Amino acid sequence: MTATMVKPTCRACRARSGHLVLDLGEQPACDYFPRCDDGGPDPVYPLQMWLCSSCGLAQLLADPTVPEEPKGVEPAALVAQAADAVERVATAGLLSGRNRVAEYGSPHGGSWLGLLAGRGLTPVDEGEPADVVLDCFGLMHARDQSGALAGRVSRVATGGVLLLQYHSLGTIVRRGQWNALRHGHYAYYSATALAAMLGAEGFGLRMAWHFELYGGTVLLAASRDVDGAVATNGSVRLLLSQDAQAGVRDAAVLSGLQRDAQAQAEGLRDWLAHERGAGRTVMGYGAASRTVALLVRAGVDRTLLPAVADASPAKKGLRMPGTDIPVVSPAHLVAQGPDAVLLFLPDLLTEVRAAYPEVEGAGGRWVDVETLAP
Ligand SMILES: [Zn+2]
Repeated sequence: MTATMVKPTCRACRARSGHLVLDLGEQPACDYFPRCDDGGPDPVYPLQMWLCSSCGLAQLLADPTVPEEPKGVEPAALVAQAADAVERVATAGLLSGRNRVAEYGSPHGGSWLGLLAGRGLTPVDEGEPADVVLDCFGLMHARDQSGALAGRVSRVATGGVLLLQYHSLGTIVRRGQWNALRHGHYAYYSATALAAMLGAEGFGLRMAWHFELYGGTVLLAASRDVDGAVATNGSVRLLLSQDAQAGVRDAAVLSGLQRDAQAQAEGLRDWLAHERGAGRTVMGYGAASRTVALLVRAGVDRTLLPAVADASPAKKGLRMPGTDIPVVSPAHLVAQGPDAVLLFLPDLLTEVRAAYPEVEGAGGRWVDVETLAP
């Protein structure tokens, strides 16, 4: 582990005691895809996760300015989950009698405003109070976590509700998703840490819903303690106990992500070498940020993985950062008829099998990168 010269300060509670729990060393910017004719080397930046001992927020330690490009294609899995989430929140009664909405979105896209308009909610102007303040994967992009959260809660009108959706740290730990850590994502939430952060703003957790997206995504409803607008139900207690069981505040447990990173990188490299040795062609699918971290960590180049296909036209002619592997179109992948397609985004399995039946039609198989099994 690298020693840090300046003692870190928590992005949420400003405490100065904590632990470096995951150190991925120097990593290229995972959203900045160089052109294929750019031979590199690509600039690299430190990538580390730090766990605050005081409020329990897991966060990005170093803060380099890393180039980031917004993504264009919104996977069907994300769209379906948003519809499911809005349905569940409505069923819980949280949308009735609430007419104004303010949305804090993710720079990667995906808005719920269309779905909420169908439920009678109208967006307010910037800075105006709203009955429903929604943050869907937005908050994690803020360097100053307490400042960003304060901005959101200040918009919640009297009797209003704050909805916060995040990829859960409990999931990251349980499933060894070490490559969820990336530049530009400053916080990795548990309900435990959010309860502390929201508590400092006079808000409490009221309801929680769990979704399979990214292996485990949580939507929380929170409201102001003084107005008692929303009653707390058992889902919050359950979530907090699941987080405690996963060990989301335990630096020793989170440090397991370091071993997970090592094991997955070695496993992937060995598997690719074995497939190549057996004379089978493997291509990748899903040029996502998680893919970049994994390929770099595993030291995979185009001799092991000749291409990664991606549906985003913006990535055509580009290569994966930190390696010489080109990004190709799904049509190119299909035309090659690979023996196996390594799916870097397991959430997309149903979607890609339906979209590219030719892969299996030609005798190829989809392989889940997390299990390396079809
Ligand atoms: Zn803290």
